Amino acid sequence: MAAERSARSSARRASPRSGGAASFARVLAPVALVAASTSAAATFWVMRVVLPAWNTPHTILEGVVHAPSDTPRQPALARRVTFVVVDGLSFEHARAIEELAPLRDEGAFRQLVAHYPTYTGPNITAMMTGLSPRESGVRLNGVETGVPGIDDVAHAAWDAGVFVRVRSRTYAEFDALARAPRQADVKRGRLQVVFDWEVDRARPTPTARPGTATLLELIYFGDVDEAGHREGARSERYAKAARDAGHYVQRVMRELDPAEDLLFVASDHAHRTAGGHGGAEPDVDDAFFAAWGRGVRRGVELPARPMRDVASTITVALGARTPSSNLGAPMLDVFDLDEARAAELAAEPFDQASRFGCTVHPTASCADVEAARAALHRGAGAADAIALLGTLAVQRDAGASDREADDALKRAAAGTSVGALFLALSQAGGFARPRSRSGYLAPLLLAVTYAATLFALGYRPTLSTMRQTEDFMIDAGKAAGVALAIMLFAAWRLRWGVRDALFTSLAAFAAMIPFWSMVGASPSALGPPVASALVFMVSPMVLAAGLAAIGIALIATARPPRASAGHGR
Ligand SMILES: [Zn+2]
Repeated sequence: MAAERSARSSARRASPRSGGAASFARVLAPVALVAASTSAAATFWVMRVVLPAWNTPHTILEGVVHAPSDTPRQPALARRVTFVVVDGLSFEHARAIEELAPLRDEGAFRQLVAHYPTYTGPNITAMMTGLSPRESGVRLNGVETGVPGIDDVAHAAWDAGVFVRVRSRTYAEFDALARAPRQADVKRGRLQVVFDWEVDRARPTPTARPGTATLLELIYFGDVDEAGHREGARSERYAKAARDAGHYVQRVMRELDPAEDLLFVASDHAHRTAGGHGGAEPDVDDAFFAAWGRGVRRGVELPARPMRDVASTITVALGARTPSSNLGAPMLDVFDLDEARAAELAAEPFDQASRFGCTVHPTASCADVEAARAALHRGAGAADAIALLGTLAVQRDAGASDREADDALKRAAAGTSVGALFLALSQAGGFARPRSRSGYLAPLLLAVTYAATLFALGYRPTLSTMRQTEDFMIDAGKAAGVALAIMLFAAWRLRWGVRDALFTSLAAFAAMIPFWSMVGASPSALGPPVASALVFMVSPMVLAAGLAAIGIALIATARPPRASAGHGR
């Protein structure tokens, strides 16, 4: 009570009529200090601790030795391989649109399951390295390479004497994500790609070593993703961009000779109905893969495969080594192969992926590897061997996500205790104990108005609705502004005081501790998707609470004292 009385009387003393600047500052100082330190702690944690753990060189693969398989490679399946990435085109659309009918009817088609986080960077990395984001350390967009020294399709191709050409229209990051060697031919520009396409045809094809393809072309088409972000996966704009992509693919098909060349087409993720991707919800991981050309089965739709299976599919086609750190399985089922030939082709990628996979994370089915290898040497069991690689991956992923979920739960429990203790301590001294019941609801009002504003701006608890950092900062600023306005109005109406201000700031911080704990900051693990999205979206609320606290304190000190104030409770 003594503390309450002194706080109230100091508030009175600090009012402009009776107090000077010094006492005014003395009342505000603790609020400003609490606001600044909680804001600084929240910002530091999210920006300097959590975020760096997302794009990271420190994953389960760090320091694990990998070498190319010494199982002999088979000759290339084609003269040249062209791989077109259609960013953001969903399986559903790719399967339905007329413009891709020639590709589907004359080739093999399947669903490709994008890895979480379903961003372009992590999933193109999966295509190029055969590694999921948890493994590669590339989990957000940007020019990121993840774990140092991981092998990739472009380097495997180059080392085998295959010339590598990379073409993207506007997406600069594709050049980096394609991981092309320095000497490769990398060009960019919206019009240039069309022009280059013609010029490239006229150039002599580089000569490769016997048994390998001559050329690997990696082409990026970005318009569908742009349309998805702007207007969503059900929009006419998205449908039109999908048709344009289909026309583009048809054009590529006309340039290639299906008797000699191979065309692969794939997307990296799909889009929400309202647009956006990145989260773990089922509609955004729904990508597709298609193969067309030399040796490819015609008009078949095959069972779904994970994104990381693209990498070894490309290297097998090129006659190049399977990337030595690959954990995917080649999609040999797109080719028309007899059993003996399939076993020959499967031997090298199987040896590489099973050896590396069982080194990184030994699972129950690693015991079956030797038998599968023996069968391949006898010229049989390719489908079983590929299926075993799939099982190993599923066991690895399930083991990792079970462990992650377990750890997240433990951390959430610990974080809840810490948050509660933090709040209890702030109450124990009385200095942040609200002076009225409405004061206890102040942090809740802040959280609700902040969250409701973000919701109105289209945010949901999934990374798919997260915008780019700069855009999100603006939206978070709007949410904070709305919350602040409502808080200040409530503070004025409900006569909140300095202690209500302190409580608002401290409680908002304490409320985030369980979320921060649950998500953690371990680079070798993926945090729970919903909590991760919330950490990024809701953490700025701590800053909003700090501002609100300062505002509440200012109003309290500036307000003329009311004789009956103490009886309001
Ligand atoms: Zn996108």
